[in-house]
Amino acid sequence: MRILLIILLTSFSWAIDFDIYFTGQTFRFDYYHNGTAAEEHISFDQIRLEGLWPGSRIQLIDDTNLGKYYIEVIDLTSAEIIYSRGFCSIYGEWETTSDARAGNWGTFHESLRFPEPKSIVKLQLYKRNAKMKFKEIFSFEINPMDFRIKRSKPEKRYKTRNIMINGEPATKVDILLLGDGYTKLDAGKFRSDTRRMLKALFATEPFISRKEDFNIRSIKVHSPEPGISNPRNNIWKNNTLGTSYNTFDSDRYVLSFDNQTIREIAAQAPYDVLVILINDDKYGGGGIFNLYSTVAVDTEPAEYVMVHELGHSFGGLGDEYYSSTVAYENYNPKGVEPWDPNITALLEPGQLKWGNLVEPGTPLPTPWDKAVFDSARVNYSFNDFKLSLTGTTSADTMNARFRALKKATESVLQANQYFGKVGAFEGAGYEAEGLYRPEIDCIMFSRNPDHFCRVCQAAIVRMIDFYTK
Ligand SMILES: [Zn+2]
Repeated sequence: MRILLIILLTSFSWAIDFDIYFTGQTFRFDYYHNGTAAEEHISFDQIRLEGLWPGSRIQLIDDTNLGKYYIEVIDLTSAEIIYSRGFCSIYGEWETTSDARAGNWGTFHESLRFPEPKSIVKLQLYKRNAKMKFKEIFSFEINPMDFRIKRSKPEKRYKTRNIMINGEPATKVDILLLGDGYTKLDAGKFRSDTRRMLKALFATEPFISRKEDFNIRSIKVHSPEPGISNPRNNIWKNNTLGTSYNTFDSDRYVLSFDNQTIREIAAQAPYDVLVILINDDKYGGGGIFNLYSTVAVDTEPAEYVMVHELGHSFGGLGDEYYSSTVAYENYNPKGVEPWDPNITALLEPGQLKWGNLVEPGTPLPTPWDKAVFDSARVNYSFNDFKLSLTGTTSADTMNARFRALKKATESVLQANQYFGKVGAFEGAGYEAEGLYRPEIDCIMFSRNPDHFCRVCQAAIVRMIDFYTK
């Protein structure tokens, strides 16, 4: 009885009455996030009123414990936390690069979106410390009556299209697709690329089973010329959303630092999840949790990249691969459990976060032929052809290498006695040692499978539930 009462009290205190605290519109808090690897600063830019709040009106408190950063919106009258959300940011990746560690400053424009409050609130921003605990780094008082809050209607510069509408934004996951590097003449191509990418997404669990929980819209953004910039190869384009290859010196990493433009255009439609389709034939993409994902659509693995990157941006999943050329160094501190739902340091095997999915009798860590796998892929890994990637490697050569890599590694993974079972396989989160992934293979590990491992599926289901229940 006592336990029940505590549970009731706990759930009561978490059930925020949306209409008491919020108007139903969306606030966007824009700021500059700058610093080096050693210091970090936040400076206010503006508060912008967007349209209808597209998120849940019931699940306002984020209990998923995902993300490197976390915000709380606190009602100052009642001192109650009325909204919270975990997220990742481009700054959060940049500060781990060698550039930042050399003491160079980086400045990134970022946005936090939350429902417009009816009375004065305090916005508190937290960041994980080396032990993965959230510590406050910034706070800002917001009076919704402040005359400086920008309340002009977002300009409808481009055409919005409803692709699949299954219900009100508040009870659905609203995905918004934008195009970059598409000219006015590419309108038909954007439409067919959109169809192809969505087909790939909804051919993958848990998106197949939960299709009716999604709304899909697109905005046909025009660029003056086709394709996007590729600075290392001295290719420069005036693509409207500012996406570019070679983010943080990783040739295939595609992000945009022009957050303001992306947000102003996206504000035309309700969205929880942003996907940017890149009209280019050079392999690449990117995905940051609760920010957006990108995918270059004219490459052979584009459908795979679409699903993998959405795993990051929507599911909060970490990369399960290792020994690949990535922009970050020592992404996860040693001896600390990562927050990623699909990566563990296995510090206490008995407390494994996906232990409920491990069959009895499966050893932890789970043995696998790592040395055989590493030697099978040695000629095809990103490390090996980093130089050729930065030169003039044709798309055909890249695709041939991807196919050869798959052929060389797939059979090694499938031969393992624990293939298809959940365990803890060493090699994950860019580290060959000390970090473990849930299954031997997964969309977050290699380009081989056409499905997420069960732990990744469960993490995505949890996010779908978060937006829809
Ligand atoms: Zn996985």
